[in-house]
Amino acid sequence: MSGPIRLALVGMGKIARDQHLPAIAADPHFELVATVSRHGGPEGDLPFFPDIHALAASDVAVDAVALCTPPQVRRAIAETAIAKGWHVFLEKPPGATLAEVESLRLAAEARGISLFASWHSRYAPGVEPARAWLAGKTLRGVTITWREDVRVWHPGQAWIWQPGGFGVFDPGINALSIATHILPRPFFVEEAELDVPSNCAAPIAARIAFRDTADVPIAMDLDFRQEGPQSWDIVVETESGTLTLAKGGSELSIGGGEIPVAEDALHGEYPGLYARFAEIVAAGVSDVDVAPLRHVADAFLRGRHVSVDPFFE
Ligand code: NAP
Repeated sequence: MSGPIRLALVGMGKIARDQHLPAIAADPHFELVATVSRHGGPEGDLPFFPDIHALAASDVAVDAVALCTPPQVRRAIAETAIAKGWHVFLEKPPGATLAEVESLRLAAEARGISLFASWHSRYAPGVEPARAWLAGKTLRGVTITWREDVRVWHPGQAWIWQPGGFGVFDPGINALSIATHILPRPFFVEEAELDVPSNCAAPIAARIAFRDTADVPIAMDLDFRQEGPQSWDIVVETESGTLTLAKGGSELSIGGGEIPVAEDALHGEYPGLYARFAEIVAAGVSDVDVAPLRHVADAFLRGRHVSVDPFFE
């Protein structure tokens, strides 16, 4: 492809505005050519469409789309884009079910376009150094604590409480995207307890016990009711000391001493994601790792669902 990748952004909500727009503007590999959203209006002078079909029927030249809608509606939009021969960047989680992501992967392969299942937390600056340090270490146990206040971070996002909205696994899957990347062996759900508000379809809190293939326990604690200090931490006890990845992967300490992480190395999470998307488009390949989604699906399959107090925003 000569010239920048002509990209349309679909689903102009919080993440599209906070992260995608600035990352696209700063990356010379991409040119934003249109936005798509049921509400709102155009970005400056750019063409604006109410849905992907209107974009597909227009004369705007598009090479790729980035889909920032809630997961429940992403597959149908992605299928339309793939049928048009456009490369597709999927926000996390890549779909509401594993089967639909697999169907998109096969459709992308058949059409010869690149499909990117993005996991932004893997591009946090502490993640690669943590992975490198853990390789070859003997692990004793892992604790994952992801506790945030849903009223602060997800105001008005009714979709998160609906079937396929993931509830507290919406942020929790970010922790799993890091854990599946930095831990040296496969792991699996042994037990899980999911607290589901009596007026919602998705959990507000969950406790999951995983174990890896070397018998190392991995305990995960997710809670959307956290007020005061928030926690997005992964602590790995090893025979060579304790590794702590804090603040969603942005701070790393080993044996109590903070390790400076090179923010520039991955240019930040969303610039890193767009650099990767440009790379796979240029190489003519896809990047679709469903490991974090598989663990969430397994927690829903294997877990005990407990009805708790209703949630009102
Ligand atoms: P959001 O603020 O609710 O934005 C989603 C947008 O999608 C809405 O503005 C809406 O725009 C559109 N949309 C909603 N329902 C739709 C439907 N049925 N059909 C078509 N479009 C629909 O949510 P968000 O926080 O940006 O999250 C979106 C995705 O990004 C989620 O998968 C989330 O996990 C991921 N993400 C979020 C964050 C974050 O910090 N918020 C961080 C990383 C990743 P219109 O009504 O105008 O169509």
